Amino acid sequence: MTQLEEDAIVRAFRSGWIAPLGPEVDAFEEELAAYCDRKYAVALSSGTAAIHLGLLALGVVPGDLVLTSTMTFAATANAITYTGAEPIFVDCDETGNMDPDLLRTAFETLRSEGKTVKAVVPVDLLGKVVDHDRIGVIAREFGAVVLSDAAESLGARYKGRSSAAYGDVAAVSFNGNKIMTTSGGGALLTDDADLAQHVRYLATQARQPVLHYEHTDIGYNYRMSNLLAAIGRAQLSRLDEMMRIRRENRQFYTRLVEDLRGVCIFGEPSGIDDDWTHDNWWLTSLLIDSDVAVLDREAVVSALSDEDIEARPLWKPMHVQPIFSVHRRFVDGAGESLFRAGVSLPSGSSLSPASRDRIGALLSELWK
Ligand SMILES: *Cc1c(COP(=O)(O)O)cnc(C)c1O
Repeated sequence: MTQLEEDAIVRAFRSGWIAPLGPEVDAFEEELAAYCDRKYAVALSSGTAAIHLGLLALGVVPGDLVLTSTMTFAATANAITYTGAEPIFVDCDETGNMDPDLLRTAFETLRSEGKTVKAVVPVDLLGKVVDHDRIGVIAREFGAVVLSDAAESLGARYKGRSSAAYGDVAAVSFNGNKIMTTSGGGALLTDDADLAQHVRYLATQARQPVLHYEHTDIGYNYRMSNLLAAIGRAQLSRLDEMMRIRRENRQFYTRLVEDLRGVCIFGEPSGIDDDWTHDNWWLTSLLIDSDVAVLDREAVVSALSDEDIEARPLWKPMHVQPIFSVHRRFVDGAGESLFRAGVSLPSGSSLSPASRDRIGALLSELWK
């Protein structure tokens, strides 16, 4: 957060619009839609709310089957569950994102059992965009809609367009840990005017447009506050700069691991130079081959933690989470091995060069 965000929230506060909705929300939606190469954005209270309402607006109802990535944060599977639909987990390929071949297997297997899949929810793991071309073709072939969980990939690009430009609907998050934040918040992106309008309606308690509070649907209280939208506008104006710093972090760690046996950077080492396809450098993670490396993932996390440096494993796959383990899955072990090997390093845009050097020195020391 900088002076720009502080000025923005003071501006919103003094305007008197201390409510969900107001001019900052309208402006944020316009600026966000433009940034994401979409016609419409709906600002909401969280990314989870965006997935939930996106699925409802796409017609997902209780009992429907929804295919999603097992390598994700629980919010994806939670939101599917809120609708009463059943999540079915699909494993990743070496990118960490949904494996299109396994997705096809899942569709074909379910169809051979006489079952229809309503929706696919691919997830851009740690800012790396899924293979939307292949996933989109497969989903269309089997008549399923696509909600793209782009919560972690805002700013990333795939084939010349924003990561949030893909899918019938995309969801992004502005939670405190994401690449840009409104402290808490999220948004739904779409090119469908009626769908955007319907989501705005559901997010404000489904009030019919009459004076006396008339309701014909179950609604939700999911809108973003005008104060937080002001912070969002300031953050969005700095997003490209924040990504540039995160990319420098990636380049720093890439040089560092050249000297560490059995360690590589997860995904693109430092990003591609053109604007065509690249991740948003949100997190830089190491993959540690415990057969070759001197330390395994646990030992690295705990050695860093002893020095007050926070590092975390990648997401633990959903199909091995106690709450979701009852659900069907199409997996081949790829997600579980990434989980065992992966550790995310401090990657923030406020990480100082001095802190980065300290982390680098410590890792080099551990590998001696
Ligand atoms: C953070 C996140 C969400 C949820 O966003 P919130 O704004 O925290 O509700 C959903 N999916 C993924 C993959 C996430 O990382």
